[in-house]
Amino acid sequence: MRIAITGGKGGTGKSTIATALSYKLSKTKKVLLLDLDVDCPNDDLILGIKTEKVKDVETMIPKFDYKKCVKCGLCSKVCREHAIVFVKGNFPFVIQEQCIGCKACKIACPRNAITEAKQKIGEIFIGKKGNITLIGGKMKPGIEESSLVVNAVKKFSEQYKNYDYVIVDTAAGTHCPVISALIGCNMVFAVTEPTPLGHHDLELILKLAKKLKIKSYVILNRSDIANKKIIENLARRYKSKIIAEIPYSKEIEKCYAEGKPIEHTSINQIIEVIR
Ligand code: SF4
Ligand code: SF4
Repeated sequence: MRIAITGGKGGTGKSTIATALSYKLSKTKKVLLLDLDVDCPNDDLILGIKTEKVKDVETMIPKFDYKKCVKCGLCSKVCREHAIVFVKGNFPFVIQEQCIGCKACKIACPRNAITEAKQKIGEIFIGKKGNITLIGGKMKPGIEESSLVVNAVKKFSEQYKNYDYVIVDTAAGTHCPVISALIGCNMVFAVTEPTPLGHHDLELILKLAKKLKIKSYVILNRSDIANKKIIENLARRYKSKIIAEIPYSKEIEKCYAEGKPIEHTSINQIIEVIR
């Protein structure tokens, strides 16, 4: 079973839940935890897992042959990422960090003046502790498109079979890397807080899960900091429900600060739903 822990808003405690769930499940089952929050992966820190890099993630980047280039600017025109700068009368050049390696420029060039070079955009790491195998990705700073690293981690992890549960810790938001992470999941747990911002971002993620036809459940973190009615109503509207509530607790914050997985009765409630 593949379960995503996600949430429209950052800082709601996705990684806290993903690691706590993995830790609890791993007491009796084999767990593969994918840290797909590739901009700032931190599951290894929370679980105290020592990781090592196994692979670079690379993409194609255009290399210009200025002997062949006739300065037509077509490559720049077709680049949807605005990664090729072209000024009339000059040779084009590429802004590496913006290129996503789609090859459109190479295909469009009428003079075959573009060949493929490679650029590193991130790396894949792995670590193990007890019954948990952690695989994650880390973006190279400055690179903009993180879904390429998310997809590379997913592909790499396919060779790791025979796990009882795959827990997917996604980035915040509903953009491409989150969509990539959610594809293939059987269940989505959306972590949120009872605040207007939590409500706004939860609606986006519930809408996305509905579009992807994945059953969604809501986990209400810091459930006692405000009135939870708005979240209950929203969950009902999307045929979802709140399956666990985690009150604000100094003990939980302390676990987080000390890099330890939290232990709370709500984690058992989530496991009940999974089973
Ligand atoms: S499309 Fe080809 S020929 Fe035209 S500017 Fe780009 S590299 Fe040069
Ligand atoms: S490979 Fe795609 S993103 Fe990169 S420069 Fe060419 S068209 Fe732009």
